[in-house]
Amino acid sequence: MTMELLEKLESELQGLQEKNLIRKRRAVETPCGPRMKVGGRELLAFCSNDYLGLASHPLIAEALREGVDLYGTGSGASHLISGHSRAHVQLEEKLAEYVGPNLVEPRALYFCTGYMANLAVLTGLAVGDKNTEIFSESLNHASLIDGARLARTSLKVYPHADVAALEGMLQASTASNKIVVTDAVFSMDGNLAPLPQLLALCERHGAWLVVDDAHGFGTLGSRGRGALEHFGLQSPHIVYVGTLGKAAGVGGAFVAAHRSVIETLVQRARPYIFTTAAPPALAHALLTSLDILGGAEGRERRAHLQALVAQLQDGLRLRRWRLLPSRTAIQPIVIGDNAETMRAAAALYEQGIWVGGIRPPTVPADTARLRITLSAGHSTRDVAQLIAALNELERT
Ligand SMILES: *Cc1c(COP(=O)(O)O)cnc(C)c1O
Repeated sequence: MTMELLEKLESELQGLQEKNLIRKRRAVETPCGPRMKVGGRELLAFCSNDYLGLASHPLIAEALREGVDLYGTGSGASHLISGHSRAHVQLEEKLAEYVGPNLVEPRALYFCTGYMANLAVLTGLAVGDKNTEIFSESLNHASLIDGARLARTSLKVYPHADVAALEGMLQASTASNKIVVTDAVFSMDGNLAPLPQLLALCERHGAWLVVDDAHGFGTLGSRGRGALEHFGLQSPHIVYVGTLGKAAGVGGAFVAAHRSVIETLVQRARPYIFTTAAPPALAHALLTSLDILGGAEGRERRAHLQALVAQLQDGLRLRRWRLLPSRTAIQPIVIGDNAETMRAAAALYEQGIWVGGIRPPTVPADTARLRITLSAGHSTRDVAQLIAALNELERT
């Protein structure tokens, strides 16, 4: 019996192997940064989401050590028992103040991960409510898809960036509680959702607009507040999710919204209630991370990142492959074929350049791609090296 179960798994794995869909992990021996060691070999990496180069920032590292001295290593319990620390309170207040100008009567809630924050928002706003309908953008992140499923409500998927199609769906809906949910920056494409139009629709139809700004928080907007600041939006309809393990360089995530939304999540959201609170030391380190994001250094790092994006776009001379039209740190090159994509990623790796090859099901069939991510930690020489390697590789 056991053998049969194992054989089934093994034949499925074999099938993935044959379709070039097996995923491999590589163990990194150094801090996340533009240069990382794998197997003793130094690589120039263009694959992390550490967009501002804060994951190995000495001041944040020092704050984390200080956090351990103040609060130890673990929280010991969930937030509603005894795991809610003063560091969590301070972080939530600081987050609410930081992204608050784009919300109304804002509060923020800190989560262990963005994945959990998204499950919490969608189940918390919808669960058990027979009159809820969720409208989900077709390229949304897996955590939003899973959150929508877990909410057990009626679910409609609208085509990518198709505001007119969404409007038709909202008009046709009889649900009293409507939730529109979208990535702000699409993680595999790098483009921005049409947030101003989506918000106008949500206000007209009395719907929530859940914005997952995992890739925009810290990188977009002149003060780094993210996509809402970038577009100059403010509304009590917005439920904003930002992650803290990408541009913020530490870990965890937060939801910011009108205080009644946040209180609802505290009372109802199972991914918030039934889990051990993140180590308070992380929240303490994030206080320093937010100071950097919102200060002069954050502004300089965002400007440098934008200069690198322009350098890459100006320098690439692609004929068969296609650089997607993105102005964010995510700069994907669509190759199409799975095997060719993985060969290109392997050839770069041979030369000491680490770029992620992304295949279905993470992206639609026949759109396998190199997902290049730039970071303020990169130098213009690093990007010049990447450009030269890509231009050469496409020709061979
Ligand atoms: C990374 C990501 C998440 C998940 O955040 P984690 O903190 O890594 O769990 C959610 N949404 C999007 C769009 C992401 O890119």
